[in-house]
Formats: sequence, C-alpha cells, structure tokens
Amino acid sequence: MAASAPTISFVSLGCPKALVDSERIITRLRAEGYALTNCHDGADCVIVNTCGFIDSAKAESLEAIGTALAENGKVIVTGCMGAQPQVISDRFPEVLSITGPQAYESVVEAVHRAIPPAHDPKIDLVPPQGIKLTPRHYAYLKISEGCNNRCSFCIIPHLRGPLVSRPLPDVMREAERLVAAGVKELLVISQDTSAYGLDRRHEAAIWKGAGVETRILDLARGLGSLGAWVRLHYVYPYPHVDALVPLMAERIILPYLDIPFQHASPTVLKAMRRPAAREKTLDRLARWRALCPDIAIRSTFIVGFPGETEEDFKELLDWLSEAKLDRVGCFIYEPVDGAAANDLDLPFVPAEVAKTRHDRFMRHQQAISLEKQRAKISKRVSAIIDEVTPKGAIGRTMHDAPEIDGTILLSSRKPLTVGDIVTAKVKRAEAYDLHGAVV
Ligand code: SF4
Repeated sequence: MAASAPTISFVSLGCPKALVDSERIITRLRAEGYALTNCHDGADCVIVNTCGFIDSAKAESLEAIGTALAENGKVIVTGCMGAQPQVISDRFPEVLSITGPQAYESVVEAVHRAIPPAHDPKIDLVPPQGIKLTPRHYAYLKISEGCNNRCSFCIIPHLRGPLVSRPLPDVMREAERLVAAGVKELLVISQDTSAYGLDRRHEAAIWKGAGVETRILDLARGLGSLGAWVRLHYVYPYPHVDALVPLMAERIILPYLDIPFQHASPTVLKAMRRPAAREKTLDRLARWRALCPDIAIRSTFIVGFPGETEEDFKELLDWLSEAKLDRVGCFIYEPVDGAAANDLDLPFVPAEVAKTRHDRFMRHQQAISLEKQRAKISKRVSAIIDEVTPKGAIGRTMHDAPEIDGTILLSSRKPLTVGDIVTAKVKRAEAYDLHGAVV
C-alpha cells in the first residue's frame, strides 16, 4: 500500500455476526485503496461498528465512539446501535454518519464523503477471499440476516429485521473461496441457523450441476464436502435438526451443536417467548446422542428473568443434571431498552438473587463439565492448532469453538503449524481445558 493511501482505523464490537459485517466493509474499503491502521491518532477517519444488544454493550459502544472522537475527531458509526441513531447523535452530535447493521453501502459512502479514495477501485488489491478479521485458519460464514422469532428479551429482530437468507450458491461460493485461501474451519453463523431458507420457501437451486434446496440440511452437506471442519452455531431444536445429526456421525460436519436453550422451566420459556419452547428437549438430546454418541452440545442460559421463581431455577438445575451438556454459558438477565420483556407483568428478580443463582448455576454445571471432560482421558481426539508455543501448541478439539469453549494444551515432538489438524491423546482434564500429547 502506498504511503499516501488514506487510512482508516476500525473498531469492531459485538458478536461474530457484527464481525462479518466489519469484514465486508473492510474488504470493500481495501479494494478501493484505503489502508487500515489500529491507531486512531493519525488515521484519516475512524469507523466504529457498534453492538446494541444489551445496556452494557451499548455503554461500551458509546465509550468507543467517545474515545474515537477524542483521539481522531472524524468518526463514522455503524452496526446494531446505529438502528437507534438518536441515542448516538444526542450524545455525540459531531459524528459524521450513523447507519444501522448491514448498511455496507452507506458506510462506504460516508467514508468517501469524509476522505475520498486515493485510487479507482481495483479488486485485485484484495485477496479473493476478502479480508478476514479472524485468524486465517478459521472463518465465520454468515448464512442469513435477521430473525423471524420474537423472544421477549431480544431486540435483534427490531434492529436487524426479519430473516433474509443468502442464496445457497452464494454461501457455497464464499465458503469455497475461504477454503481455497487456507481456511480449515468454517463457523456457520446467523440469528437462527435452523431457519435458513424459510424466507426463500426452501427454493430449489443448482450447485455444481446438482439440484439442491435452500435449507440447512443441503447447505450443511455442501459445506461438509469442502474438506474443512464445519461447525454450526445458533441452532434451534426444531424437528428438522434431527436430520443434521447423521451428518455429524459421518463426520461430514463436526459433532457439535450450539443451541441457546436459555432456560428449562416451561413458565420462564413461555415468558421469554422462545421458539421451540414446547419441544421435549431431553428426549431430543437422547435421540441425537443415540445417533451420534460423541456429539457435543453447547448452550447458553439466562438466569434472573422476570418472574423466575426459586422453583423455576431448581427446575433448570435438575434439567442440567439430566441434559449433561458439554459446554455451557450463563448470563444474568439484563433488561434491554425496547424489549417486550420490559412490559411483562412479572416481578423483577432482585440483583443479588440473580447473582447468587448465576454462581449456583456455574458451580452446578462445572461438576457436570468436569465429569464429561474426565471421560476423555486416555482417548484420542482430533485437534486444530490455534497457536504454536515454545513447548507445543494450543489447540481445540471438535467439541470446542474458538473464543467461547475450551482448549487443549498440547505437547508435541514434531513441529506444528497454526491450522494443522492433529490427533492427540488426552492426558489430563479440567472443567474447561484438556491437556494432551500429539501422537
Ligand atoms: S431467536 Fe430470539 S434471541 Fe435469537 S435473535 Fe431471534 S428473537 Fe433474538
């Protein structure tokens, strides 16, 4: 890049979906000759991709905007918080432009206005797979935007609109480019992965000369044929998810399902307006494990939701004991501005009670996780290498997604490279991480 290229400092906040938006904006700007810097001071302008999911995320976004204004002065705001421009412009009237999520074109136009491109667009400035903000050996693959559900604690459908699935050949082409560029693990993301294609009425498409339907089963099968690990996130336990599990047993995709159950008490699930709340999830888990015995189930839960009683909470703990999930995250309920849950005629759970429930939940699950992890001792597992260390490497098994799950700390006699997929023997287990040796 020429020294005279206009430079942009980029701040990407929020979830993997926002990260994919950031990657798309950056890819486009790099194609137009802009350079990137991670220092606001001295950049020609700053883009802040915000997260507006919960109040603490909003506060972090506002702080990032304030910092960018203080250190640079030319600031463009985009992302989920941009769906509420008033909140930003009231506090920071000097912000140059505010756009909502997925508004790639508007962000790029705002950059053009603030600092015109040095060159005409030259697509060959950009590698064919685009610019990835994640390490090169894994990449997030966004298959749809928006959501048709109406969970009462969530404003994402309001911020991101209804479900819009990408055409299946588009997703496949992006995945092929990523794999050709060296990506070894594809992390499929959306707001509701199992709903993929519903808005397109599962339209028929042609991929590599074969007829396919725009649905998650066909997409998973296609992605699984590319030779990379394929990991599914944000899957809801709809009945058609059962058909994905045999693909996991055959290792076409990873034996891993990330399903945000959020709670187990029917009363709380009803108040949360969760999709598939009435599904008999324990029966479903048993069926999946019968089809694919080593499937790992990851989930997240919310404690302290309005109206959650001690009985509801105990029901959740009992459910966890039976479900024996592999990976679990727990959040304390936080009211979100504009969410329907704020209007529920239900008593709020006092903050200290919610905090205690969170701690009890974590202790309870930790014992379950440890038992599941210990069962892996002496077994052979496949691991992908994330980082090479002086003594060996830090990797992840098929049961661990980057950033949210555990790792396996590996000793190795042979030299390893980031992105290698190795076989390792597990020697020791902790509640989250494993220790092993490459064999
Ligand atoms: S499924 Fe529920 S929690 Fe997830 S994005 Fe849709 S409305 Fe929000």
